[in-house]
Amino acid sequence: MNAVEIIRKKRDLEELSKEEIEFFIKEYSAGRIPDYQASSFLMAIYLNGMSQREIVDLTMAMAYSGATLDLSAIDGIKVDKHSTGGIGDKVTLVLMPILASLGVSVVKMSGRGLGFTQGTIDKLESIPGFRTNISIEEFINNIKHIGISIMSQRDDIAIADKKLYALRDVTSTVESIPLIASSVMSKKIASGADKIVLEVTCGSGSFMDSVERAKVLSETMVNIGKKVGRETVAVITNMNQPLGRYCGNSLEIMETIKTLRGEGEEDVMQVCMVIGAYMLKLAGKGDNIANNFKLIQKQIENGEGLKKFKEFIIQQGGNPSILDKPELLNMARYKTPVKSEQSGTVYEMNCKNIGKAIVNLGGGRIRKEDFIDNTVGIEVLKKIGDEVEIGEPLLYIYSNDESKAKDQVKFLRDSYKLASIDVQKIEEIIDVIE
Ligand code: URA
Repeated sequence: MNAVEIIRKKRDLEELSKEEIEFFIKEYSAGRIPDYQASSFLMAIYLNGMSQREIVDLTMAMAYSGATLDLSAIDGIKVDKHSTGGIGDKVTLVLMPILASLGVSVVKMSGRGLGFTQGTIDKLESIPGFRTNISIEEFINNIKHIGISIMSQRDDIAIADKKLYALRDVTSTVESIPLIASSVMSKKIASGADKIVLEVTCGSGSFMDSVERAKVLSETMVNIGKKVGRETVAVITNMNQPLGRYCGNSLEIMETIKTLRGEGEEDVMQVCMVIGAYMLKLAGKGDNIANNFKLIQKQIENGEGLKKFKEFIIQQGGNPSILDKPELLNMARYKTPVKSEQSGTVYEMNCKNIGKAIVNLGGGRIRKEDFIDNTVGIEVLKKIGDEVEIGEPLLYIYSNDESKAKDQVKFLRDSYKLASIDVQKIEEIIDVIE
């Protein structure tokens, strides 16, 4: 068996055996297959796809390419959640304390932002003192003690995914259903979850540009879960505009606090309710989705979700005073409006551009080791279906360098399309695949 022959087979639309897939992943993870051959392999998969059987084999080979987490010391069903990435997506931050307050063990390894998306770990690190680089022992102890812990994705988990993801980023092979499905599911399987709820984002701020593709991706991941005994539900959400009002790490922590106080934006609440309801179902806390909505709503109204968020912040070394005084979060110095030059109704937004603008302001990474400014971000005032007058602000840019903010004004203004037509507000939940 050799890499050239495996690449040739995929190039010529032949199906790879389990042994061939395992060989390629094992040898690549060990550094015995170079990046140029792995790039070819990725491109062949991108262009020619994979059968469901090949995708399951690829996922499992990647899941076992590094260490795996043993969570058997924690009682109960461990349900994990993963998003395929979006703009302004603070669902994990809002939902995890709510679920923990309902007795679900929240065991979460999260990533940092890469490219135009932001990551939960960076958001948490914008809380003064908060530690995400904790040991497995501390992680498990936190969960036993207060029911929740979030740590940054360890370097030794799903090593193949780490290497392949970085390579996909620079070889234009990210938007491939077999590659996204195996990347997401291998990490979740290696991280020890018994059951998985996926937030599959769809639209201009995500990797899936059509509902059809988002459905195929969801079905593929749900099928992997079935085949490997980890029940999986996928919730397809609309990412044609940012979720909520604020995008950027500190700003999203502020919005999380507001949401847990019961002052959340409707779209954030909708997505949290549906994903949370399915997590409760998989965790064995109730099969009735409508009842589960009520349980989540109640934990916001009675303050239990916010209380758990405070315990979580204290447990991981953060300053809990931010809950009463969000102004203790570091914030950017300048607030620059992006004003509309025409009137009309917003019928389209290039959501990805909001993420790109945050990167340009210093709030995102081009390379893994880049330093980022957690305080910069964007406040979204106008969304799809909103009416706009000439001169009205569409957005506010938060920055520490006014000239950098000014550079983004035209780019962001051009990300909006307005016309004198009636436009429906968008529905957040597109579908649920079980
Ligand atoms: N998120 C992942 O973890 N992997 C992908 O390939 C895309 C989104």
